[in-house]
Formats: sequence, structure tokens, C-alpha cells
Amino acid sequence: MAQSTLVQSSYSNFFRSFFFTLFLYLQSAIHPVLYSSLSPSTFRKESPRSVNMLEKMEEINLDRVIEEFEAMTRDAGRVQKETLKRILDENGNSEYLQNLGLDGRTDLESFRACVPIVTHKDLEHYMQRIADGDSSPILTGRPITTISLSSGTTQGKPKYVPFNDELFDTTMQIYQTSFAFRNRDYPIEGGKVLQFIYGSKQFKTKGGLAAGTATTNLFRSSQYKSTMKAMQSHCCSPDEVIFGPDFQQSLYCHLLCGLLYRDEVQSVSSTFAHSIVHAFRTFEQVWEELCTDIRYGVLTSRITGPCIRAAMSKLLKPDPALADLIQEKCSGLINWYGLIQELFPNAKYIYGIMTGSMQPYLKKLRHYAGELPLLSADYGASEGWVGANVNPKLPPELATFAVLPNIGYFEFIPLKECINTLEPKPVGLTEVKVGQEYEILVTNSAGFYRYRLGDMVKVVGFHNSTPELQFICRRNLLLTINIDKNTEKDLQLAVEAAANLLAEDKREVVDFTSHVDLSKEPGHYVIFWEINGEASDDTLKECCNCLDRSFVDAGYVSSRKVNTIAPLELRVLRRGTFQKILDHYLGLGAAVSQFKTPRCVGPSNDAVLRILSENVIKSYFSSAF
Ligand code: AMP
Repeated sequence: MAQSTLVQSSYSNFFRSFFFTLFLYLQSAIHPVLYSSLSPSTFRKESPRSVNMLEKMEEINLDRVIEEFEAMTRDAGRVQKETLKRILDENGNSEYLQNLGLDGRTDLESFRACVPIVTHKDLEHYMQRIADGDSSPILTGRPITTISLSSGTTQGKPKYVPFNDELFDTTMQIYQTSFAFRNRDYPIEGGKVLQFIYGSKQFKTKGGLAAGTATTNLFRSSQYKSTMKAMQSHCCSPDEVIFGPDFQQSLYCHLLCGLLYRDEVQSVSSTFAHSIVHAFRTFEQVWEELCTDIRYGVLTSRITGPCIRAAMSKLLKPDPALADLIQEKCSGLINWYGLIQELFPNAKYIYGIMTGSMQPYLKKLRHYAGELPLLSADYGASEGWVGANVNPKLPPELATFAVLPNIGYFEFIPLKECINTLEPKPVGLTEVKVGQEYEILVTNSAGFYRYRLGDMVKVVGFHNSTPELQFICRRNLLLTINIDKNTEKDLQLAVEAAANLLAEDKREVVDFTSHVDLSKEPGHYVIFWEINGEASDDTLKECCNCLDRSFVDAGYVSSRKVNTIAPLELRVLRRGTFQKILDHYLGLGAAVSQFKTPRCVGPSNDAVLRILSENVIKSYFSSAF
């Protein structure tokens, strides 16, 4: 048997037997609601092993995880071919592939010749049929029974994508791979993780399929919990807090749980770093109330949900010594520098996605972290995973993701062909070149074939024969009026440069977004800032000029010089505006865990534009050109 097949099957067998054994063991203990929410196919048909196995399974063999990863990445080209074959074999009977005339062929040439490159828009009507209850094999060989809602924060509205067992397995594989490498550099000794994670509301689609965000589908799974436990990553907070109906109440209780278990907390994490920053900004407001709760062992009346109150009361006992200690720690901090380190003396690191649109939060996160290292998490999407961070010591700004060649078939469209090229010519995983940027295409077992994930990545090296990618930005241009082209990254750099001027006034940008205003000729860029306090008019005017000058794209600069793009406008927002935007997205079914502030608000996003325009307190126009 080919080595890669061995790798693939040993991975699968390992995960499947691991989950199944844990399932047997936990069956009696699982919360009945959670249990009933799992699809029957979640539990595979493997023969039961003895419960003795469990003791072995409970401790994941991290050396083996690394060995298998190394073996697989040494043979990435072959593993890719076999992965493609497996995906096409398993799903060859789907309507989608049948209509493309593959006729059961699984070789690369036929795949490329028959299967078109698509975006989510091309798949929407298939997704709608699935959501409406058509249980025939539409995109995948086996019918889809659960739907994920992608965060939709980049597009303006959540989109439906399939969620199935294969996606769950690859998620666990990614988590375990990066954990194995992380634990080698930063070992944790059992204990708990203060995880700022939140479930979104789950609902049934018209056709009766369970739908929720991908992270919610994951957090609800008992297998997820057992895997996290086996990775010594047991969440401090009970389910009632994670799945509480009110985000603010859940956040408060996460903080409280963290403090109650402060000595046991080994790491602080969230899916995206934004949630951690948001949590500790909230801590600054509520810390005295948290101390009062701990002192008297009585939960504040601001927590109103009966389930969450009941769960928290079980944990809360009067503890004046702990309340005094936290009070002392907080009072001793200067401007909250090193807060996380002080509160959680045994924490080894802070973990979450810190790249891409999360990068603007790094400065604040570092401030709260003090000396604690920041470790950036893996790269993927609701549609499927791409790579794991196997170099945890790299600072988040340099974080890379080694592509796991057995979780999907990956292709890469070179940068110059990404936009407006009718027939881009993607290259394979092992054909990419170091230093080049690409748009990534995913083919996986969740019903995506040559699917444009919408992200730009840069190849910065190879781990064995699999590329290590850096996330660059979303592919879509963010700001463009005529010949100017500015991406999310360009906006981020401009905001960073201008925010440095604010630092002189000891102020910071809490969050930002942008908009292209075409209501008057010529159009102009609008940048919205929420600032933590008052900054002088002079400083803000300077910031506005700096923003305008910082967009160095030749198309922008030349258009500004001849005034075919009007002066950039900086609009300062009332405090709390981004909270209102977050609440708006939560109302649409998004989850805080997957929330990414939209960095550009398009003309069709009326609701967010309204929130922004209703909260502008000052506005400045650039005089930079
Ligand atoms: P979602 O729509 O919620 O599934 O989010 C998926 C998107 O989040 C991806 O397509 C990326 O744009 C972004 N994303 C996910 N992981 C990372 C990462 N490690 N670094 C930067 N961006 C990421």
C-alpha cells in the first residue's frame, strides 16, 4: 500500500476509533440535549473496543501525531493525488459531479478538464435545495444533514455551507496537529482553558436540517469536548454559558469562571482574537462587579437567564480571599498592562486566530498579555480547513500555515490571474513557488470542488514538501473607485500608520471600517474610527491626512492628484458603535466566535451603513493632496 494511503488510513482509523471509544464511555454521561442534536451518522460503524482502550485514548499520543504529519507532508504530492481520488470516488454519484460528465474518472487531468472553478454564488441554488430538504445526493455522495452558516461578515450576510462528518474529522485533525506542535514548545500540564467561545442560535431550515455557525456545530458536539479534554483543553465554562441566549451575559460568566479557576487556567483562547480583546475590554468595565460576586458567592442580578444562573450558582461560593487578591492585582496594574498574565498566573500562552483581519487587535492583545506569548491559530473556513500552524514560536505577524495534504485537494491561482481572468490556470500544491501570492481553491469531502475560498495567500516556504502559507487578505478589492485598487491589507496598513499619531494623545483606535462614498462626483473613501476617548481636532486632522497619504497604490495616488477621487474623509464614531454592529450581526444568526468586523461596508449593506451614519460625531476631510 502506498505510504500516503497508509498515512491517510492510519489518521482516519486513529480518529474514528478514538471518537468511538470515547463515545461509548461518555454515552451515559452526555447531556441528553447535546446527545440528541448529533446526527446518527456521527457515530461510525466501527466495532466497539474495550473501555480499557479509553485510558490510552484519553491521552493523545502527540509524538505520533507529529510523526504522521511529517510522513504525510514528506509525500505531499502523492497524498494530494490520492486525496483527490478519494473525494471523487466517494462523491462520484453526486448530481453535481455526474452533470459535469466525470463518469467516475478520478484522475487529475479529467478533474481539471470537467470541473469548473466556482464561487459560493455558483453553488447557492444547490445549497438552497439541500436546505429545503432535498435529500438526494446533490453535492456529496451521502446527503448533507447539517448546515453551517459562515460568518458572512465579509459579504454582509451569512451564507449556507454543508457541514458533515468529514469536515468534523478534518477539524479535529487540524486542531490536534497544531496542538501537538504547540505542546512541544509550550507544554501545558492539564488544567483548563479560559475559552471565549459562544454558540449561535441553532435553527431548522425549511427542509428541517439543523443549521448554526460552523463553530456552533462543533462546540455542540460531544466528540469535540472529548477531543478538547484529551488535548488538556477543557473549557472553564459550563455549556449553559457557552450556549447562553445573551452574548453579554455569557461573556460576563466566562470571565467569572476564569477567575474562579484562575490557578488552573493553562491558556486563554478564542476562535478569533477579536473575542479575547473584547472580553478584556469588558473586564475593565465589570471587574469590580466580578469581585463582589466572588466575595459574597452571589451572582450579579445582570445575569437573568435561569439556566445560566443555575449553572453559575453551582460554581460560586463566597471567597473573600480570592476577591481581595483580584482587587489587589487589578489595582496594581498601570493602564491594564499585563492583565491576563496577572489574573492567570499559570497560563502559558494566549491562543486564537490573530492573522488577517485580526491583526489590528494585536497591539491591544499584547498590552493585556504582558509577557505571555501570543500563539496564532490555524487557517480554514466554514467550507473546510487548509493548514495548521506548526511553527507556534513565530510571532502572529509572521504566522504560517502548513497545508495538510490529506484534508482536501488544493490548487492555487497565481496573483496576476486572480482578478478578471476568465480562465485562470491554477497550479497544484507542490508546484507553488516561494515568495509568490495566490488565490486558493479547495476541493474537499464537504461538497466543494475547485471552490474559490476568496482568500489570497503567500507561499513563504515549505514544510517537507507541503507549502507553508501566510494569509494575505480577502481577494475582493475593498476600496476602489476608478483605477485605484486597495485591499484589506492596504486599509489595515493605512489605519496602523495613522493610529500611531493618536498614540501621542494616549488614545487608540478601538475598531475601524470603511466605505466608498459615490453620492457625489467624484467619489471618495470614508474611514470610520471608534476611539477610546477624546482626541484633539488637530490630531484627528493629521490622522485624516495620514490615512489619505498611506494609500500608496499608484492608481489611488494619481487619481487623488488630479482629483478624480475626492479627499479622503475620516468619520469619528460614538463609543459603542462597533458593539451595535456586532449585535446587528448576531441578530442575523452570526456567532461572536466567528465574528470579523466588516472592513468595508458596501452600498447594499443598509443596516450597517445606517448604524454608522447615526453614530458619527465628527468628520474631517484630508488636505494631503
Ligand atoms: P467564515 O466565513 O466564518 O467561515 O470565515 C472564514 C474566513 O476567515 C476565511 O476565508 C479567511 O478569510 C478568514 N480566516 C480564517 N482563518 C484565518 C487565519 N488563520 N488567518 C486569517 N484569516 C483567517
